[in-house]
Amino acid sequence: MEIKIENLGKVYNNNFKALQNINLSIENGMFGLLGPNGAGKSTLMRILVTLLKPSCGDVWVNGKKMSENRKEVREYLGYLPQDFRFFSKLKTWEFLDYAGALAGLKKRRERLNAVDELLEKVGLFDVRNRYANKLSGGMKRRLGIAQALIGDPKIIIVDEPTTGLDPEERIRFRNILSDLSQKEVIIILSTHIVGDISSTCGNMALLNNGQVHFQGAPQDFIGLARGKVWKTSVAFDQIKAINDAYPVISTIPSETGYELELVAPSLQGIEGENIEPNLEHAYVYFMEFVANTQLP
Ligand code: ADP
Repeated sequence: MEIKIENLGKVYNNNFKALQNINLSIENGMFGLLGPNGAGKSTLMRILVTLLKPSCGDVWVNGKKMSENRKEVREYLGYLPQDFRFFSKLKTWEFLDYAGALAGLKKRRERLNAVDELLEKVGLFDVRNRYANKLSGGMKRRLGIAQALIGDPKIIIVDEPTTGLDPEERIRFRNILSDLSQKEVIIILSTHIVGDISSTCGNMALLNNGQVHFQGAPQDFIGLARGKVWKTSVAFDQIKAINDAYPVISTIPSETGYELELVAPSLQGIEGENIEPNLEHAYVYFMEFVANTQLP
């Protein structure tokens, strides 16, 4: 599968430019779309699943223009929206059965097999007879991914799937997605949580103010912050000034003051040594020092 997004823009009715000149190329595997709240991620996801029309530009799926082949493109898609809801009157398995019928699984036997298989995969088989609205938050989210997966979609789009999940559920969710990424499918995961962009994301893009500021491998993104992340020790009375001057990532009290990790192109008036950046460092560096100055 291949998705190409070309010169895409979205202006809402109130003239707000939610997306500007988006160009992205997405291939099989997991693609992470990272950006703060309000960056335009949901707008882009909704365009990709044909729920919203772009104001300009287009999306090409396997060489086919989305605007001219909506129905065909929809057949490839599985979608877990950010505000995923389901009918309270349905049991867990019934909900999935219904989603399967919508996804085009017409034969009942085949559909029920697919339902059971997915319930197993997302760890909901034991609660299959529970009403869907009585599931825990994490279980609901897993039912959400199951309904996105029924019918074997080739493009799976999940919008902010881990918001509000506890760490255990978040890891579980991530593992379900990373298992999927072994297949010949595209998974697009949008998130404002840096930790969701795990090593399983072969590629990522950073979206901010409706524009793409970076696209490439997470390792290359991390590389941008090399030489910009510092470890330093400061005295008790210096901490306020340091916090005002730099984005501080971590503060650990010591006998003489604090051990800090902070992000900055260079240090002024304090000594420090560079440490190897991680994705969180790179995100902070990018948002603080690059994103708002890089594009017009
Ligand atoms: P994200 O998913 O990254 O949080 P969204 O795509 O939801 O971002 O929103 C991007 C921006 O577009 C936000 O400032 C939001 O307020 C605005 N927006 C979203 N939907 C509409 C709409 N229907 N009309 C006007 N503005 C909108």
